Amino acid sequence: MALLTSDALVLRTYKLGETSKLVVLLTRERGKVRAVAKGARGGRPRYQSALEPLSEVRVGLYGRQGAELLRLGECELLRSAFRAGERGLETVLFLSYLAELLDAFSPDSEADDRVYRLAVAVVRAAEAGTPDVPLARYLEAWLLKLHGLYPPLDRCAACARPLPPGPLRYHRASHGFVCDDCGPASGPILPEGARTFLGEAFRRAPADLVGPVPPEATILEPFHYDLISSHLERALRSHRVMKGVARGAP
Ligand SMILES: [Zn+2]
Repeated sequence: MALLTSDALVLRTYKLGETSKLVVLLTRERGKVRAVAKGARGGRPRYQSALEPLSEVRVGLYGRQGAELLRLGECELLRSAFRAGERGLETVLFLSYLAELLDAFSPDSEADDRVYRLAVAVVRAAEAGTPDVPLARYLEAWLLKLHGLYPPLDRCAACARPLPPGPLRYHRASHGFVCDDCGPASGPILPEGARTFLGEAFRRAPADLVGPVPPEATILEPFHYDLISSHLERALRSHRVMKGVARGAP
């Protein structure tokens, strides 16, 4: 009998030996787990497209309770992100960024239903054609928020009084936005349009994001990236690649 049966998202796979793969899964029941998929490579590969990154699958996992590495048994493909990837290189890179972000923010073997539901909703929105850039900002904002890392938008991080409407002034030393009395803030300053975008992102489902990120909110990209890399204490590989392509680098 399977140790665990769960819905899961495939985060990434590695080649293992001649005929197998190591699969990193974000499972609904047990958070991030690693499993060996025997026969996943070679002439007649088992599993086929079910192991593509961000495929939504239902898996049976075998092994000892508490083992670091499980064995993948049955793996039913529920939904594939492959079609979103057919839209072009930028979307493929975006999907790999999404997978890397989810991987980086998911500790091993710690189920978090909110993160799982967020991940599935974002992947489905990407498949349905929601534009990549607002979706990336959405996922970053929510992952940071669910990990307690997004500074509140409505209270001063230093004195806890409500922040007036308008731009948000980030102060690094306070790890949050500060009021005029607690300034001057180190920056960056998020314009009102960025604040509105964030407010909407925290209220809405990802599929409701329509249109591009407003110009005033483009600052959220480097802002989120700073918050993410200082939390992870490293850079994300796919983010660098994505930026390189966006700049037209070879
Ligand atoms: Zn204050």
